[in-house]
Amino acid sequence: MRNQDRTPRAVIRRLPHYLRALEDLRRKGISKISSGQLSEQIGYTASQIRQDLNHFGGFGQQGYGYNVDNLYQEIQRILGLDHSYRVVIVGCGRLGNAIAAFTAIYEEGFDIAGVFDSDPGKIGGDIEGHPVQDVAKLADFLAKEHVDVGIITVPADAAQSVADTLREGGIRGIWNFAPIDLQNLGDLPVENAHLSDGLRSLIYYVND
Ligand code: NAD
Repeated sequence: MRNQDRTPRAVIRRLPHYLRALEDLRRKGISKISSGQLSEQIGYTASQIRQDLNHFGGFGQQGYGYNVDNLYQEIQRILGLDHSYRVVIVGCGRLGNAIAAFTAIYEEGFDIAGVFDSDPGKIGGDIEGHPVQDVAKLADFLAKEHVDVGIITVPADAAQSVADTLREGGIRGIWNFAPIDLQNLGDLPVENAHLSDGLRSLIYYVND
C-alpha cells in the first residue's frame, strides 16, 4: 500500500534509516528480528517502529518479530525503490563528479540520463563516461527524454534558474546541493542536501 499523502513526512524520512539497518542485518545473514532488537539496532523505540510500520500495514508477527528480507522488500516498495529512475546532473564540478561516481545510487536503480554544465571548457568532455552537454540544451533534452529526478550541483546563484528549467521540463523531484532555498516550485518534491547545516548543528553539541 502506498500511502504517502496521509503518512507523516517524519515517518517517510525514517524509512531510509530502516532500510540501512535491514541492509546491515541482511549482510550479517540475520533473517528475523524482534521489534526490541530492531529498536536497539536503530535507536528508535520499539513502539515508534511499530507505529511507523503500521502506517503501511505492520509487517510484524506477534511472537516472531519481523522477517528481515520481507521487511526490507516492503520498505523498498513503499519508497518506490523497487524500480528504476532516470536522473540528470546539472553542474559537473567537484560535487557533480562525486555524485556521478557514487556507485550506490546505481545499485538503487538510478540511471544517469545526462549531465550538463555551462562551462565551454567542460562541455564535450565527460564525467564517468557521460558526455557533458551544454545546459542551454537542458530544456530541449527534457522535452525529448523521460527524466524523473534533477540533481543540482551548480553554484548557489545559478541554482534557481536550473530548478525552474527542471520544473518546466516536467521533472518529478529535485535533489538540491546548492546552499539556497529554492522558490516557486509549487508542490514539486525537493530534497535539500545542505552539508554545511549538519556541520553547523554539530558545533552546537561540540560546545554544549
Ligand atoms: P564547482 O565550482 O566545482 O562546480 C560547479 C559547476 O557548476 C561548475 O562546473 C560550473 O561550470 C557549473 N555551473 C555554473 N553555473 C551553471 C549553470 N547555470 N548551469 C550549469 N552548470 C553551471 O562547485 P562544487 O564544489 O561542485 O559545488 C557545487 C554546488 O554544491 C555549490 O552550490 C556548492 O555550494 C554545493 N556544495 C558543494 C559541496 C562540496 O563538498 N563540494 C558540498 C556541499 C554543497
